[in-house]
Amino acid sequence: MELSDLVNQTTIFRRKVNHVASQKKDRLAKTVGKVFDTASLKVRLTVGIAAVAALGLGSLAAWTSAKMQHILVSTHKENMDYIAGRFPMDVEIYSEMIPLETGAQRAIDSLSTKDQLIWIENTTGKITARSTALNKAEIGNILLAVKNVPSIPTVQDLNGSYWLMCATPLKVKDVNLGTLYLAHNITENQVMFRHLIRSLTVATIIAIAAMTMIIALYIDRSMQPLKKVSQLTATISADKLDQAHLNLEQAPTEVKELAQTVDQMLVRLSEAWEHQRELLSNVSHELRTPLTIVSGYIQSILRRGDNLSEMQKEALTIAASEADRTVQLLQDLLDLARADSGRIQFQSEKVVLNDLIQEVAGMAQQYSKRTITVNSSAPEIAIKADSHRLKQVLLNLIDNAVKYSDAQTPITIELDKHNNQAVIQVCDRGVGIPLQQQGRIFERFFRVDESRNRAGGTGLGLSIVKTLTEGMGGNITVRSQLNQGSTFTINFSLL
Ligand code: ADP
Repeated sequence: MELSDLVNQTTIFRRKVNHVASQKKDRLAKTVGKVFDTASLKVRLTVGIAAVAALGLGSLAAWTSAKMQHILVSTHKENMDYIAGRFPMDVEIYSEMIPLETGAQRAIDSLSTKDQLIWIENTTGKITARSTALNKAEIGNILLAVKNVPSIPTVQDLNGSYWLMCATPLKVKDVNLGTLYLAHNITENQVMFRHLIRSLTVATIIAIAAMTMIIALYIDRSMQPLKKVSQLTATISADKLDQAHLNLEQAPTEVKELAQTVDQMLVRLSEAWEHQRELLSNVSHELRTPLTIVSGYIQSILRRGDNLSEMQKEALTIAASEADRTVQLLQDLLDLARADSGRIQFQSEKVVLNDLIQEVAGMAQQYSKRTITVNSSAPEIAIKADSHRLKQVLLNLIDNAVKYSDAQTPITIELDKHNNQAVIQVCDRGVGIPLQQQGRIFERFFRVDESRNRAGGTGLGLSIVKTLTEGMGGNITVRSQLNQGSTFTINFSLL
């Protein structure tokens, strides 16, 4: 392999990989966009309710933790206030027989516990008495170093241990002993409280997430009836208006009311559509007969008109062809109106397709002056259909093949058997149909780009072909390539 080939192949491969990756990204973005569509009522309701719930639960959790903290320290605070109040009296009692400093030490010893520490600092900043536990460096160094201790008991975080501390001036027998310091160890309580707060936070977050999910699911379920209404109104066709009905017994009252209104609107639309169809059918019927007579008279004048001038003959020929075209249009409209209202009758019988196609090809060959080749893979392929309507279908397709291809190009009809199905294909090598319009050519009055349509037409032919084919239990598809030609394929179950 040449180096340039290798480089080319690598570039193509890289482009393909990039294309697939960007397609995947687009799909993901679309899905994410659908789920988090900020304009959707579901997302707005879910976010709104979840935010209110989060605010409510968050405030409740904050209030609970503040209250717990208060309850936890309030007993200790009361205790410390009580000690600070009675301490000078205790010192006074002890110092009746011994010096004031020794009395203070005695009072400290009697009031100190493992968690309750007391010390006195004289006016020069020297510690004159202290609880025995403060002699241990790891406690003493930390507590005695705390500066600006407030007079109201306050929680102090001292390198991971928590103390409730307060300081108050100490005067006994009018002697100023300095400042009395009280410290209560609340580390155990505080750690327990922190654990509790952490668990409360986690529980609140889980509760908010669970609530949001439940709310989202509930809103989604409540929205289902609305989705049904939107699906029905998006897919309903004019012909099925009378069959469309919204059955939303489980829906909320507001949606049920909407469904009833939509149902009533569908009934009114269906009636209006029915009136329109009847009018169209009646008008077509009333106009067809006189026009057929007019066309017949013109034809007979033309046949016997030896004394007509060339100009008169030309005018009458145009008038006859326009009258014929209009009669054909009225006939098509009548057929469609009948099919719509289910009044079209099919005389189903055994049809040997080989014979019928030969006959149709012969007829078409005569009026179009084109060679139509018939190829058949089996001597007798039979189906159940209305032979008259099937001829109408095939003539319509051959007529299109003639109209939309050059005179020197071939037109072929292929007859085949495949998977218990009879397959008829009408092929031409004409102008073809653009891919994006192939899905629409069976619609009523749809014509591909008027400028291409040299031959006159109404845009009704293929919609009649489809209606008749499906009415007889078959189906029709098209395969076409621009400027290469078109193949219309009809399938019927074999007899
Ligand atoms: P029309 O009366 O215009 O032929 P049809 O319903 O038969 O109406 O066809 C609809 C449109 O489909 C036509 O206007 C034409 O543009 C296109 N079409 C139908 N058959 C062919 C064909 N064999 N080749 C190319 N275009 C076709």
